[in-house]
Amino acid sequence: DRIARKRDREFTEFRKRLKDADQFKVEQSVFDDATFAAIYKLVQDGYIEAFGGPISTGKEANVYEALGAEDRDVAVKIYRINASNFQQMREYLEGDPRFEGIGSDKKKVVLAWTKKEFANLRRAKKAGVRVPEPLAVERNVLVMELVGLVEDRARRLAEVNVENPETAFEVVREYMRRLYGAGLVHGDLSEYNLIIHDGELVVIDLGQAVTVHHPNAEDFLVRDCRNVASFFTRQGIDVDADELREFVTAV
Ligand code: ATP
Ligand code: MN
Repeated sequence: DRIARKRDREFTEFRKRLKDADQFKVEQSVFDDATFAAIYKLVQDGYIEAFGGPISTGKEANVYEALGAEDRDVAVKIYRINASNFQQMREYLEGDPRFEGIGSDKKKVVLAWTKKEFANLRRAKKAGVRVPEPLAVERNVLVMELVGLVEDRARRLAEVNVENPETAFEVVREYMRRLYGAGLVHGDLSEYNLIIHDGELVVIDLGQAVTVHHPNAEDFLVRDCRNVASFFTRQGIDVDADELREFVTAV
C-alpha cells in the first residue's frame, strides 16, 4: 500500500545518504542491506539522530560516534557480518548456555554475538561494574552510551599516563570480582579494553565475555588476570596474577 511504498522510498534515500556520507565511504563493506535496514530502524525508533565519525575500525566491528536520543552522545558498534574470526566467535558462543545450539550459520553467529555483548553489558552494569550503558540492539548494530564526549572521548588505559596505578588496579580488581560474582568472565581484559575518562575507569568490549559455566571460562580468567597483572606490574606496582585470581573468585 501507499504507506509501505513511502517507507520503502524513505529507506532507499536514507541508505543512499549513508553510503555517500564521508565517514562510511572507506568501509562500505561493513554495510550490507540488512545492516542499513537495522540502522534505519534504530533511527526510526529514535536511538540514533545523526552519525559522527568512526572512533575505531577493527577486524570484527566498527565503532562510530553518533548523536542519540535526548541530545546524548552515543557509540554505535557495527559488527561485520563477514567477520574474519567468525570461527572463534562460534567457539565462544558454543559453550555458553545462553546461546546453545546456535549452529554455524555466519549471519546467525554474528547476530547472536551482538546480542551477547548487549546482554553482557546489561548484566555487568547491574552488578555494579562501570561499563557503557547499553541502549539498543538491532541485528548486528549495538547502541551504547559514549564514554566521554565527542570532543573529549575516553582513552584506552594503554594510551594514557596512569596517574595513580595503585588505585586504578584496585578498581579494576573490584570490577573483575563483581563481574565474576555476576557469573561472567570478560575474556579479553587488558589495558586495551579499559578506557578512562575524567579519572573514571570503564570496562568495554564485552562481546566475548562468557558465563562461568563455559568450558574455557577458567582459562579466560587466568589470561585476563595475567594481562591485568602484567600491565600494572609495568606501572611499577607489585601485582601477582594468581593472587588476583584468588581475589576475583573468592566469595
Ligand atoms: P578492538 O579489536 O580494537 O579491540 P573492537 O572491535 O573489539 O576493537 P571495542 O574494543 O569495543 O571494539 O571498541 C574499539 C574502540 O572504540 C575502543 O578501544 C574505544 O577506544 C572505542 N570505544 C568503544 N566503545 C566506546 C564507548 N562506549 N565510548 C567511548 N569509546 C568507545
Ligand atoms: Mn577492544
